[in-house]
Amino acid sequence: MIERTLSIIKPDAVERNLIGQIINIFEKNNIVIRAIKRVKLNKKDAENFYSVHKDRPFFNDLCQYMSSSDVVVMVLEGENAVLKNRELMGATNPKDAAKGTIRNLFALSLDKNSVHGSDSKENANIEIKFFFKDLAN
Ligand code: ADP
Ligand code: MG
Repeated sequence: MIERTLSIIKPDAVERNLIGQIINIFEKNNIVIRAIKRVKLNKKDAENFYSVHKDRPFFNDLCQYMSSSDVVVMVLEGENAVLKNRELMGATNPKDAAKGTIRNLFALSLDKNSVHGSDSKENANIEIKFFFKDLAN
């Protein structure tokens, strides 16, 4: 089923000029970049976006980091895009990420792990609406 998901290229990857290389991985895997923009989140934006993690010990550091410099937000579209994006991203901790995944290739650490991706279709809709009002599934 063709579906949409939200991807964010995090500050560490934007700062290292990896936007093109990351998009290339999506496009080589039949994912279409349906929408894209480069934005600087403020701390409140990041807290709202990551509100599911508000009780986790890393919440403050995560929101601080995600609002530290520009990110690139994208709506990805394709067959099973939610799961496919998660597969292409690799595990949260780059030490555990499978070879050839985005996090295996580019991530610096557990927090500076280069990309965000929605973890379910339900959350994809919530996250897409956060940045691109009209594009939810
Ligand atoms: P994912 O990004 O793979 O969906 P989570 O949703 O669990 O992972 O966590 C969101 C983000 O918070 C991660 O991408 C990572 O940057 C950060 N994070 C997760 N767990 C930790 C942790 N134990 N310590 C520090 N940062 C973490
Ligand atoms: Mg997550």
